[in-house]
Amino acid sequence: MSDWEVVVGLEVHVELATETKLFSHAPNRFGDEPNTNITPVCLGLPGSLPVLNRRAVELAMTIGIALGCEIQPSVFHRKNYFYPDMPKDYQVSQYDRPICADGALDLPNGTRIGIERAHLEEDAGKTTHIGGSDGRIHGAEEALVDYNRAGVPLLEVVSRPDIRSAEDARAYVEELRAILIATKASEARLEEGSMRVDANVSVRPVGSQELRTRCEIKNLNSLRSLQRAVTYEAERHINLYEAGEEPVQETRHWSEEGRTHTLRSKEEANDYRYFPEPDLVLLDPDAEWIQEIAAAMPELPAQLREKIVAKANVDMETAATVVSRGLAELVLEAISHGADPGRAITHAVQNLAIQGADKLNPKHFAELTDMESSGALTATQSKQILVEMVESELDPASIAQKHGFESMDSSELEELVDIAIAENPDAWEKFCGGEEKVQGVFVGAVMKASKGQADGKAVSTILRKRRD
Ligand code: MN
Repeated sequence: MSDWEVVVGLEVHVELATETKLFSHAPNRFGDEPNTNITPVCLGLPGSLPVLNRRAVELAMTIGIALGCEIQPSVFHRKNYFYPDMPKDYQVSQYDRPICADGALDLPNGTRIGIERAHLEEDAGKTTHIGGSDGRIHGAEEALVDYNRAGVPLLEVVSRPDIRSAEDARAYVEELRAILIATKASEARLEEGSMRVDANVSVRPVGSQELRTRCEIKNLNSLRSLQRAVTYEAERHINLYEAGEEPVQETRHWSEEGRTHTLRSKEEANDYRYFPEPDLVLLDPDAEWIQEIAAAMPELPAQLREKIVAKANVDMETAATVVSRGLAELVLEAISHGADPGRAITHAVQNLAIQGADKLNPKHFAELTDMESSGALTATQSKQILVEMVESELDPASIAQKHGFESMDSSELEELVDIAIAENPDAWEKFCGGEEKVQGVFVGAVMKASKGQADGKAVSTILRKRRD
């Protein structure tokens, strides 16, 4: 493998987080009853006309600007093909003039990956095959079609073939997802299909600059699948070359048992007969509009990670987790309201993987960490309050009161600590001499005396206060 270099380019389809679809007022919503979010435009019924969604254009520009792309005049085309989940028999997409061109994405390891283009297009409906294995068409007895997704706005982000390993392919998608979450341009959920990855994979001898025959692996729906599929496909190419054969350019499917297989070869490739969509005009955002979008750009993941590392004194990996969960702003704001950084980070990494957590009131979040630090709440109580804070928007003290959580106030806790110190003079001497690990003796004693109501960290804080 060491004589060969992997060459990967990624095409990522991103569903934009708009209220309505790209060309109709039908809701853009995942998980609704099938075939309820449809208008004549979504189905391409005769006489219906598309109206471009302004918000979709703004989100496309936001992503483009975040990726350092140029925003340029663009044209919608009809891409013609027959597919049962696309009743119009064409997809409206951008062809030779995409809205965003020539950008780059920097991986956290410093590698820069070129972005060739990002274009707007509509999604197709969704077909579910019933009766076969794995939801696949092979062996299926019937197919169900849901048109709710037909016409949902997509931005297809196309990288240059600059990616050199399966790990970097994964890092690229992770970073792109973090950007989408930071800009709120997409929910970017791989498992729900609001972000879908196709990988173009080839290999070449190390040192060579040529681009050899590539294979495209379609619809990788997890980071793990992406990494495994790229690794598998690169090895397949290397084995072919080393056996004196050559890969054939084709589209392949990744199956979770760990291999790719042919979906369609180049010979049967579609001729899409692109032509400009006659019902839509040139999309030409003026400089002022582009400037407005650029000015409203929130902080991007790279900046957020650095801020979190600096303000919360954690490592880059922890900061990356907070950012990828979309909780960076919450944590930073809570810290600015006086939250204990360590406690805020712990919640963001361990306890806040819940929908809507990013909308938590940062001041309430800070109050919660205060209550923990003062010993008013146990870790379990605090977790329960946190979940209810996300659901109810109440402040933590009211929720604690509602549940009648025995608030152990700080004077009570300090008293218990003082008793524990008095009862363990030897351990106290060692602790004062710098033996940190004996504090377990005091924490244990206080826990026992308080019947588990005390917070271990709060006890440590008081112990250190007494010593220093
Ligand atoms: Mn596409």
